[in-house]
Amino acid sequence: MKGYRDMSQAFSGGCLCGGARFTCAAPPIVSGHCQCTDCRKSSGTGHCTHVAVPKAAFAVTGNVAGYARPADSGNIVTRAFCPKCGCALYSINEAMPDLVFLRASALDDPEIAKPQMVVYASRAPSWDMIDPALPSFPVMPQGGAEKAIADA
Ligand SMILES: [Zn+2]
Ligand SMILES: [Zn+2]
Repeated sequence: MKGYRDMSQAFSGGCLCGGARFTCAAPPIVSGHCQCTDCRKSSGTGHCTHVAVPKAAFAVTGNVAGYARPADSGNIVTRAFCPKCGCALYSINEAMPDLVFLRASALDDPEIAKPQMVVYASRAPSWDMIDPALPSFPVMPQGGAEKAIADA
């Protein structure tokens, strides 16, 4: 975790059974909801809430399994979960190798997540309503979520 000596903003998370734990030594870069079909199917509800953090500040301990599958873009997204309790932990997108997308649901303190946007809103089920004040994009905005927030 070199480069992240100031641990005052560190936070942690983990799965339901405690078999997989992670820490992050830096504050989130961006956070948002994704209503794509893959997020819905892996979430237990209509969307996932992701918290993007620098990979260099991220560390995981314990047993983690991964499921890799191409996103719309064709980029491979690997979703990490606990092989014992099935809890979703984070995902990694091969197109953004410096970032880890933590699941807000796995954070010890879910208030760390401050969602700033909604992507893939066009795929949302009618009952999955998210704060209408948030910027919302029908699919992934051009240049990705990080750029959309910078431009917003
Ligand atoms: Zn577990
Ligand atoms: Zn998604």
